[in-house]
Formats: sequence, C-alpha cells, structure tokens
Amino acid sequence: MQFKSSIRTDGSREKVRIADVAGRFTKARQIFFYVLMVIYALVPFIKVNGKPLIFIDILHRQFFLFGFTYNAQDFYLVFFLLSGALFTLFYITAVAGRLWCGWACPQTVFLEGVFRRIERLVEGPKSEQLLLAQSPWNFKKIVKFIIKHFLFVIFACAVSHIFLSYFVSMDELLSFVRHNPHEHWVAFIWMISITAVIYFNYAWFREQLCLIVCPYGKMQSALTDDDTLVIGYDALRGEPRGKVSDSSRGACINCRRCVDVCPTGIDIRNGLQLECIGCANCIDACDEIMDKVGQARGLVRYDSLNGLLKKPRHILRPRIYLYTVLFFVGLAVFSFFLFKRHTFEANILRAPGIPYVLTEGKIRNQYLLHVINKTAEKAKFTFKFSGEANVIIPFLEIELGSLEEKRIPAFAEMDAKKFKGQFNIILTSTNTQTGEVVVSQIPFLGP
Ligand code: SF4
Ligand code: SF4
Repeated sequence: MQFKSSIRTDGSREKVRIADVAGRFTKARQIFFYVLMVIYALVPFIKVNGKPLIFIDILHRQFFLFGFTYNAQDFYLVFFLLSGALFTLFYITAVAGRLWCGWACPQTVFLEGVFRRIERLVEGPKSEQLLLAQSPWNFKKIVKFIIKHFLFVIFACAVSHIFLSYFVSMDELLSFVRHNPHEHWVAFIWMISITAVIYFNYAWFREQLCLIVCPYGKMQSALTDDDTLVIGYDALRGEPRGKVSDSSRGACINCRRCVDVCPTGIDIRNGLQLECIGCANCIDACDEIMDKVGQARGLVRYDSLNGLLKKPRHILRPRIYLYTVLFFVGLAVFSFFLFKRHTFEANILRAPGIPYVLTEGKIRNQYLLHVINKTAEKAKFTFKFSGEANVIIPFLEIELGSLEEKRIPAFAEMDAKKFKGQFNIILTSTNTQTGEVVVSQIPFLGP
C-alpha cells in the first residue's frame, strides 16, 4: 500500500518507528528539550513577591503572573495575552516556519525527549522494534511490553501532576498525594483523566495529533511563503538520484535515511509538506550520509524555497511588516490595559428589588457598595459620597485581605419635595496605602 505519511491513502495508519539519528540538530534539540522540561517542572515551585510565578487558581478564581495578582474581573487581560502569543507564533512561523513544532511544542518535547527514549531503551533500535512487533507473544515480548507501558504510565502520571500544580496550589497538591483519594475525589478524577489522555497520546496517538488534530499545522500554507525558513531538499543538487556507483547521478544516493528518521513518515524529497513538523532529523541523517560518501553537507537543510531554487531571498516582506505591526498594536493595547488596571475595584450598584421607595415624605434608593482588593497584601480603603442625597452606610473605612471582596449595603435618601429629577450619587474610594483613587457613580431615582 502506498502512503504519503503515517496515514495511508485509505485512512488507515502506518505505525512510524524512527531509526536512530545523531548530529548537531539532534543534540541541540535534546538539550533544549531537557531545559524546557526542567522549566516546566520548576515553575510551580518558583515564587515572586511570595506568590507563585505562574498559577491559575481556578477554585478561588484568581491568577498569579510574574509577581502580579489578578482576579476574575481581570480575565479580559487573558484575551490580550493569548492574542499576543498567537501573533508572536504567526510572526515566528512567517520568518522561520515550524520552529515551534520541531523545537518547543510539548507534543514534540515529551514524545522525543521522554517517551520515544523509553521505547528505544526497552525495545532497542528500529530493526529490533520491528522484529519484536512481528514476533508472536512470548515471555520476552510480554515483559518488554509491561516494562515499557509501566514507565509510560509513571511519566504520564508525573506530567499530569506537574500540569495540575499550575491550577491547584503546590501545598494542596502535596496534601492530595499524601491523603486517601476519596478525601479529594474531584481532583483525583482530574488527575486520572489527564494521565489517561497523556498516556494515550504519547503511547499510541503520537504524530497523528500533529497530522489530524492540530490546527496550527493546517494553517502553515497560509502563514508561510517562499521566503520562510523551512527544512527542504535541494532538488537542483540532489536530482537525478541514483546509486553511489552511478556516475550520472546528482548528490542524492537514494538511501532513504531521511525517510527512516522522519517522525511523521514523510519523504522530504517530495517537497514542502504540511506533515513536516520541522524536527531536523532528516538534516542530520542526510549530513551523515554526505560525510560518508565524501560530498558537501546540506543536501537537506534549513533554507527558504527561494533559497533552494537559487532565487533571490527576501527577509523583509509584506507579511513580516503586517505581523510586526499587529504584534506591536496588541502589545500596546495590552500594556495600556495593564497599566490602567487599578489595584482595587469599588463600584456602587443598585440593590435588587424596586428602584426607589417613597416613605414619610422621603425618597429612598438602596445600593450595594462592592469593593475588591486586587493586591497580594492587606489594604485599607476609605469612601466619600457626593450628590444631593444623604448617603447612609455602616462604615466609611474598610480593611480587606489579599483578593478579598465585600458587599456593603447603603442607602441614599432626600426630601421628595426637593427632588427635581434624576441625578448621580458619586462615590470616591481611596486606597489609603497607595493614595490611588477610583470614582464610580449611580443615578438616584425618584417619581
Ligand atoms: S521531513 Fe524532516 S524535518 Fe520534516 S518531520 Fe520529517 S524528518 Fe522532520
Ligand atoms: S538521506 Fe540524503 S542522500 Fe539519502 S535519500 Fe535522503 S536526501 Fe538522498
């Protein structure tokens, strides 16, 4: 059966087993993978100003980023953060193709950095893996199967715990680990489900996530152009391919090493393909062959399509300008909202029920004063009202703990005879530590 990648033309799957590969990119990627994994595992332990570096506390609807504390009201900032990350990714893709996929995507990092390494350790190189897969079930095969999948589950469980620590505090997570699951069954179900998804993905689904599920891979043709840095085969130099002994051949000796090491099972010599995740395995594999046959390296290399065709290259081009402008516009809007953000919120809201009451010649409006301390420390706030009505409130000063919020009932009243029409009650709230002032207002209603 002919197939173009690990997915055959009839939709069935051709399991990819990659041959061992060594070289400068393989080594650099492995080091980079370990650095990323260490960062991923350490971030939940790092604290800035006594708060976690990155922590999304779903239970208490608050999040911590690089020493700053945010609550649910600040969630709109996530939109700017995500869109900023998206435009950065667009920009990197337009300049350097699928650098993210091959070097930094968690799918690649954990698959190549951990799970495929375990497989190689237990089952041996590609040739032994193929023999094992074809052999009938016997003691040796069963033992290898159990060891491999046991290690997969252990790592999936470790990754799942680290992932959860971004959403549940480290102290809580450690307490979950020490106590019986029935004491925290919701968190336990989450942990089991995430472990199962990670195990399924890295043990079996693998490159199909990139080929079938990932939307980023599908967007490549729209994000890149002929000047984007990609991994490509120099057909001008390589063709016609032929045996080493063939004197009329180009540089390619048709050894298929580049195909043997490809994690998505494609042949880079067929041109740029959506299935290519930019892992650079084929560069190292081909360079090794070129060294052996005494030819110059770089038959498969990082280059643009224009570069591979010996056409002029353009670094600055319209889409680079466009993505740069969009990136800086996004950054400016994000910075504006970030610096405009107050360290507390104080809003005067209408209390549920009828808008006003008329009693003993007086009009009365009922309100709720909603105050939130958005800082990581205790803070004291004072309130001042202005407007034609007299505002009555239990206290004009309040102290709130970190991210604490309070609703204080208040009412405003005035003589019905003096009421000439709707006007605003103005609330001026002050953070006594920082001197920051927030002003809000609400209409006083009457007949
Ligand atoms: S073609 Fe080369 S760079 Fe692309 S996925 Fe295959 S081995 Fe990696
Ligand atoms: S590894 Fe190089 S020489 Fe061998 S088939 Fe691939 S491109 Fe040709």
